[in-house]
Amino acid sequence: MGNKYFTVSFDDGLTQDREIIRLMDKYGIRGTFNISSDLFGERTYIQRAGDIGFRTVPEVGKNPKMFADHFILTREEAAELYSHPNVEVASHGVHHLHQNKFTMEEASDELLKDVEALSEMFGYRIAGHAFPYGSYNDNVLTVLKDAGVRYARAVTMKKKPKDFRFDPNRLIITPTCWALDTFAEALLQKFIDAPDTGEMQVFYMWGHGYEFDYGTKMGNFGHLEKLFAMASAASGIDFVTNGELYTV
Ligand SMILES: [Zn+2]
Repeated sequence: MGNKYFTVSFDDGLTQDREIIRLMDKYGIRGTFNISSDLFGERTYIQRAGDIGFRTVPEVGKNPKMFADHFILTREEAAELYSHPNVEVASHGVHHLHQNKFTMEEASDELLKDVEALSEMFGYRIAGHAFPYGSYNDNVLTVLKDAGVRYARAVTMKKKPKDFRFDPNRLIITPTCWALDTFAEALLQKFIDAPDTGEMQVFYMWGHGYEFDYGTKMGNFGHLEKLFAMASAASGIDFVTNGELYTV
């Protein structure tokens, strides 16, 4: 193993994850899918504003182009799809709630129970979490640590990191970029060209499957495939799940 790692993280357990995993297989990409143990089979639509999905709604509105399917896989579909050698499953909270006002009890109900349910479902101890809406407080962090969770992913959009350094001793992961960031391709090229510093360097990209159904310049599967192809063709990069960042 070298010192440069590429990993991806996608949320909500959606039908579009099938295409993401097909592309991951094609290019040897490994990554993590953050799912909620009590939302299997729920079907809504995401309403977007440009490339930002700002709310889920029960039905498509007047302009269907402004909506994408937010269809969560059934339990059986999820068990089959994510039991895959390139995939790690992580927690996204039992009910996908804002977590910034949780009491200890609420945090335990939403997080510990999710970790336990998903661990049982997939047959290994769930090691990670992604904060729904990027929202959390100190009670959430305490419960995650007590549950043995090794990492919890926050959210970044439209904000370039100053470097690719990665600290495996931190609980909270700040991603390198969002998959639809307009600078994602240039930033990935910078990562590919970055010399080996002897320290761990990580390109960590996050997103949602529905974002590739937007049909916008960045919101399409061709864009994701281009990024995967670039990373795959580069030398000196190892492909890992999020959890494997802590075991390399
Ligand atoms: Zn989510």
